[in-house]
This record gives sequence, structure tokens and C-alpha cells, in this order.
Amino acid sequence: MSGPLQVTILGATGSIGLSTLDVIARHPERYRAFALTAFSRIAELRELCRLHHPRYAVVADSSRARVLQEQLDSDCVKTRVLVGEGGLSEVAAHPEVDVVMAAIVGAAGLRPTLSAVQASKRVLLANKEALVMSGALFMQALHDSEAVLLPIDSEHNAIFQCLPGNYAAGLSRVGVRRILLTASGGPFRQLPLEQLAAVSADQACAHPNWSMGRKISVDSASMMNKGLELIEACWLFDARPEQVEVVIHPQSVIHSMVDYVDGSVLAQLGNPDMRTPIAHALAWPERIDSGVSALDLLQVGRLDFEAPDQHRFPCLRIARQAAQDGGTAPAMLNAANEVAVDAFLSGRIRFTEIASIIEDVLDQEASVPARCIADVLAADTQARRLASSWLQTRDR
Ligand code: NAD
Ligand code: MG
Repeated sequence: MSGPLQVTILGATGSIGLSTLDVIARHPERYRAFALTAFSRIAELRELCRLHHPRYAVVADSSRARVLQEQLDSDCVKTRVLVGEGGLSEVAAHPEVDVVMAAIVGAAGLRPTLSAVQASKRVLLANKEALVMSGALFMQALHDSEAVLLPIDSEHNAIFQCLPGNYAAGLSRVGVRRILLTASGGPFRQLPLEQLAAVSADQACAHPNWSMGRKISVDSASMMNKGLELIEACWLFDARPEQVEVVIHPQSVIHSMVDYVDGSVLAQLGNPDMRTPIAHALAWPERIDSGVSALDLLQVGRLDFEAPDQHRFPCLRIARQAAQDGGTAPAMLNAANEVAVDAFLSGRIRFTEIASIIEDVLDQEASVPARCIADVLAADTQARRLASSWLQTRDR
């Protein structure tokens, strides 16, 4: 091997970013942090630079970049600080980079993730919103490049592990009947329905099994996360929406399953810790230690399954419809959801209004074909505008 692989981590200060750094630090002979990026938390990024000495750091704006550069200079850390979307794309596509972890949350991750794909990197995809928004165009960019895309979302990583190496030939050709996408059901799976409207942001973010960023935590509570993951699975594995079935599995030990025509069902199991899929994707096709403890099945004791409750989780139905509509519908779904989750997290709307906003936006704006990224971004902007005016009307 010719020295460690150079890794860019987009979203290094987040939950996935920090777990990635944890895995990398266990294998200094194999991986080195080349660039670390953050939006605004420069104190945390400074600390990460002092620990990992990346060649580059990227922050959102030039005033923060100036402050961080001065601090790093005074720390005698040689990291160079870059700015904004240009900086993100530069470190995602840099010729010396081998691996890019795409772990920015939301639509903001689309451009840099696409840059990494176009530059033929090994792309570790946590930022599901990027793929949901731009589906066919993203997959086309992948086919046009020599990039290797490995899913980090635990469900998709599990499905990838349960599929044969030649699955790209087509799911039916390799004997797959369905994909069984597991979901924990989040913190409100058993809450009396009439209490759902009054839940707080902190309650929504208290996930029973996983510790994650606030946006994906709310998505898990509403099950929009599973809706986004359904769309993500369709693109990653070339599946039709009706081939993907959602099953609630509250223990989060089975991370998803593949059902074959001969009656075999393959599952991937493990403790709910994102370092497992991260280590899998970093080392694939090899295996490395992730720091995750061995699964103790006797401790787990039992594995339960139930169907998702359509009344409790309307986001799942709305997302499935967007998957079927195709075109710009998933981009609008994602954008309306981002605005709604933001409004819920800042206390402007009730939890149950998240689904109402998204459904209203999708009812108002018909899906059109997404022929280029500009079409996707226009749909994203329009959906954000409609969702914001929904909020303004409500505030009046
Ligand atoms: P997080 O909120 O903990 O971290 C997000 C990161 O993105 C931070 O580093 C932040 O600085 C950066 N960021 C946010 N907005 C930005 C912007 N506008 N421009 C540039 N950078 C920005 O989120 P997370 O939980 O780590 O999730 C990251 C992604 O991974 C999401 O797409 C999420 O759906 C996906 N994911 C996360 C988990 C998990 O366990 N946390 C599991 C599966 C998938
Ligand atoms: Mg997931």
C-alpha cells in the first residue's frame, strides 16, 4: 500500500463526521484526514484541526474563516482555511483525495457531493437528501465517472451487504423479490395519538436507539426519514417504490433485509452504532475494526416487527407518493420538509404540522421532469418559498 488514503469529511463537526474521525483515528496507517468542513461551529473545528492536522478546513463565510485561520496559526497548526461552497467543492474534488465522506445535512450537501462523484472519488454517502433531490441526475453522474458510491445510511449499508456483488445487473436478475427497510418507529411509536401535536423538539430528538443530529432525529420521529430512505433505496439499488417495504423493528438490531424469490431472507445485524457502516464503507471490500462492541444476542433477547401506522406517520405515505411521481417531486418533498423541520425545531409549528406543510406544498406545485441540476435547484427554491408562505399565513 502506498501510504494512507486521504479522506475529506464534509460535515466533520456533525454526528457522522465525528464517528468517521473516530474510525479513522483507529487506523492511522490506512487513513488520514485531508480536509474537514463545518458550517459555523469554528471552536469545534479548531479542536478537530489540532487533533487531526488536516491540510484544509472549510467554513461557511469569510469572517469565520479569518478568525479560524488566525487561531490555527497561533496554535502552530498548518491547516489552510477555505470558504463556502467553492471551498467545499475544492476539497471534495482535490486530486490528492481518495475518499469523501458526504455528511453535510440537507440540500446544502448536494453540490460538494456531486463534485466528489464527478471527480471519481470513493464517495461515502450519508447525506441522503442529496440523492433524494437529484436521483436520476446523481446516478447518471456516477455512471459517467469512475466514482464508487458506498451507502452509509445503516439500512442501505445493510442492504448493500445483503445483495450479491452483481446486483447492478438488476434486482430481478439476481433473484430479489423485495427490500425490507427496517425502521425503529422513533420516540413516538407508542405515544397516544392525541398527544402527538403537543410534543416538544427535545422529545422528538430523544431517539430511543440512535444518537444523531437534530434534523435527522426529527425526521426519524415523523418517519419522513424512512420516506427519504425509501427514495434513496430506489436510486441506489434500482428498485421500484413498490419493491421496498417498510417494517417497524423497535430494537434497531436488524438494519434491513433482502427477500429473495427462493424464500431466503438475508439480514445484516449489529449494535446501533454508525461506526459499523462507516468502517464497512471505508474498508470495503475488506473489514476493519470500528470500535463497536460485538452484538450480544442473549442481551438483545428478542426481535419484534410491526407494520407502520399510516395515521401516526403520514410522512411515509407522502414520501411514497413523491417516489411514485418522480421528476422534481422528491426535491420538493425534501425542501418542504427541511423548512418544516426547521420551523418545528425553533418552536414555530406543532409536530403534526410538519406533514401538513409538506403535503400542501406538493399539492400546490406539480412535479416536472428534472433534466438538469438547475431544474432540481429551481424546484427546491420554489418548495421553500411555498413552505415559507405557509408559515407566514399561519403566523398571521
Ligand atoms: P449533524 O447535524 O450532526 O451534522 C451536520 C454537519 O453538516 C455539521 O458538520 C454541520 O456543520 C454541517 N452543515 C450543516 N449545514 C451546512 C451548510 N449549510 N453548509 C455546510 N455544512 C453544513 O447531522 P448528522 O446527524 O451527522 O447527519 C449528517 C447526514 O447524515 C444527514 O444527511 C443525515 O440524514 C445522514 N445520516 C445521519 C445518521 C446519524 O446517525 N447521525 C444516520 C444516517 C444518515
Ligand atoms: Mg438510516
